[in-house]
Amino acid sequence: MTRTAIVTGGARGIGAAVSRQLAQDGMAVAVLDLDAAACEPVVEQITAAGGNALAVGANVADETEVGAAVDRIAADLGAPTVLINNAGIIRDNMLHKMSVDDWDAVMAVHLRGAFLMSRAVQPYQRDAQWGRIVNLSSTSALGNRGQANYSAAKAGMQGLTKTLAIELGRFNVTANSIAPGFIQTDMTAATAQRIGMEFDQFIELAASQIPVGRVGQPEDIANTVSFLVSEGAGFVSGQVIYVAGGPKD
Ligand code: NAP
Repeated sequence: MTRTAIVTGGARGIGAAVSRQLAQDGMAVAVLDLDAAACEPVVEQITAAGGNALAVGANVADETEVGAAVDRIAADLGAPTVLINNAGIIRDNMLHKMSVDDWDAVMAVHLRGAFLMSRAVQPYQRDAQWGRIVNLSSTSALGNRGQANYSAAKAGMQGLTKTLAIELGRFNVTANSIAPGFIQTDMTAATAQRIGMEFDQFIELAASQIPVGRVGQPEDIANTVSFLVSEGAGFVSGQVIYVAGGPKD
């Protein structure tokens, strides 16, 4: 049986790697991002490797766009029963300089986005009596200077995950959260730029503080997602897995 997965923020970084991995695992994959055209290279990679994927443009924070996107995915790829809430943005600043817009934008994409997507996909999971949700949190959920908005949103993702696990468990749906540490993507490149450091230097510094001696790659997260959405992971639910090259509390 072919499962259909939706990966939000799938055009690049972690979402692109997750999309490719789930296609390799045999799922039909909806690569969803703000701009459908930006998803095309990932869709082409998947198709070239013999997989099935669809580029979908939608803002996860917009209720109408989310509804239309999920309906289209169900019609074109089949009932979506796997959801990876990965879309994310950063708007870092120290508290005294953080604008209300920067607070609201981060909450909207991460929390409102994950809520809207989960609510839209849940009827398909209920009808299938099977489902998997993975929410991207972060080690920043434990607190991080300059990230009042992002750390609050990422801690919120963990609370959302646990409640989804409790409410949806009766339908054989699991919900788990992955909290990555430093992963080499455009997002961490933007952080390096903000603090005025070369990305290579920033990576080297981060790696020196990580027990396994390197920063993470998008594939490190994709491999963890692959396990959590697998058939065999059905008794793992409501968990937060720190994928950070070392322990985190
Ligand atoms: P990224 O390279 O910046 O990719 C994020 C993707 O999300 C982009 O393609 C972006 O689209 C898309 N997106 C943003 N707002 C959206 C919206 N409203 N609707 C739909 N798509 C939207 O980030 P990443 O590093 O891969 O991060 C992926 C996830 O992991 C995020 O939730 C992030 O917070 C989390 N994470 C990352 C790290 C890290 O070290 N990189 C660590 C911990 C957690 P545009 O290109 O159009 O903006």
